[in-house]
Amino acid sequence: MRTQSENTARVVVIGAGMAGARLAARVPGVTVVGEEPHAPYNRVLLAEVLAGRYEPDVIALPPAEVRRGVRVVRIDRAERRVLCDDGGVIGYGRLVLATGSNPVLPPLRGLGRTLPDGVHPFRTLDDCLALRAAVRPGVRAVVIGGGLLGVSAARALAECGAQVVLAQQGEHLMERQLDAEAAGMLRRHLEALGVEVHTECRVRGLRCTDGDTPAVRAVELADGYELEAELTVLACGVRPRTGLAKAAGLEVRKGVVVDDELRTSDPYIHAVGDCAEHDGTVYGLAGAALDQADVLAEVLAGRPAGYGGTRALTRLTLRSPSVAPAPSGAAVASGTSGGLDLAAFGDSRPMPGDDVVRLADATRGAYRTVVVRGDRLAGGVLFGDLAAVGTLARTWQDDEPLPADMSLLHLLTNDGGF
Ligand SMILES: Cc1cc2nc3c(=O)[nH]c(=O)nc-3n(C[C@H](O)[C@H](O)[C@H](O)COP(=O)(O)OP(=O)(O)OC[C@H]3O[C@@H](n4cnc5c(N)ncnc54)[C@H](O)[C@@H]3O)c2cc1C
Repeated sequence: MRTQSENTARVVVIGAGMAGARLAARVPGVTVVGEEPHAPYNRVLLAEVLAGRYEPDVIALPPAEVRRGVRVVRIDRAERRVLCDDGGVIGYGRLVLATGSNPVLPPLRGLGRTLPDGVHPFRTLDDCLALRAAVRPGVRAVVIGGGLLGVSAARALAECGAQVVLAQQGEHLMERQLDAEAAGMLRRHLEALGVEVHTECRVRGLRCTDGDTPAVRAVELADGYELEAELTVLACGVRPRTGLAKAAGLEVRKGVVVDDELRTSDPYIHAVGDCAEHDGTVYGLAGAALDQADVLAEVLAGRPAGYGGTRALTRLTLRSPSVAPAPSGAAVASGTSGGLDLAAFGDSRPMPGDDVVRLADATRGAYRTVVVRGDRLAGGVLFGDLAAVGTLARTWQDDEPLPADMSLLHLLTNDGGF
């Protein structure tokens, strides 16, 4: 039985993902409750596990005390305690929601609340291990969604010998990060690996076997065409996990609304990572989750700190183990793997009045483009040769004015013109 004073000081974190584990490392004595059965791991590296390059223990995060395999089912704000699915009740002085996000299940015919056999989301280590167990050379796999997640899943499955079709509803791959030209290069790269890429391709439904345990057989497209499928991966985006917060009456818009001290509408409850909405933004990126956890650790220690947003460095690491995800930084999406090197940061879609500087070397498969808005770097894409990415991303992250007398072409040289 805990005393009231222990409870008053006690920090309880719901969720042992990237933000929760970071808090556990920064806040002494914190109690972390995590629904997943595994020790905390680096979610960004799951495609590596799927491709069979890493075993799960390689992507483990620094060890943390976690009540594993336990889900918090209710927050009792009046009594300041949380109720768990194993019957446990934990009192808190401060509560932190680090519940992450859930994969979006698209409204497809044949897809109910229970997924048919062969249909896999791609969010957790268990999702990844289930997919890895199901994939074998020659298996027909359809990946629905051509964003960062879908591209990395398609590539990993192709590396395992699957016959992969990637169905992307948008005009080109990785629309959030890449311009059309870089997306075209990525597409050619995937096609060289044997992935069949369909863009502007809307999936309408799944065709499954009859019976008590239906299994996917084909993916139906809007034009009536059917893609044969023994495996289907859903990579259609994510949605913040806000159910607990909503049920507890906290303010929730897209995510759980937090202020600069990551505090929700209840002063005793904070939220960080994918589930949190700060200044109208839900980041959905590892860099932001870690930045927020770092700021909250300071706030909980009583030191002055404030979160002002993240220009998050996102790294999609497909092969090279030497390119580990950066803990935080500027907003960059990048992929590296024998033959595939790409990085994108900021807003690389030009607006009227922007300057666009582009350098393409078709022979070497290299491409660089940056967008300059006023006197600032707004974003860029590099493909094939990332030598300039560090300087460019730093310039963008620092949001410093570019030197007035500098030719913009220098931005594309390896030292970024500095
Ligand atoms: C395959 C993949 C690749 C990615 N690649 C990149 C990338 O290249 N770059 C990038 O920036 N981001 C990437 N991301 C996104 C990144 O992983 C997330 O932004 C990051 O994990 C967010 O951290 P989080 O702690 O907020 O959420 P999560 O890491 O999702 O952790 C949330 C945890 O809370 C647990 N939980 C939820 N509800 C409860 C409850 N009620 N009780 C107990 N536990 C609960 C969940 O089970 C989960 O373990 C990728 C994601 C995936 C899936």
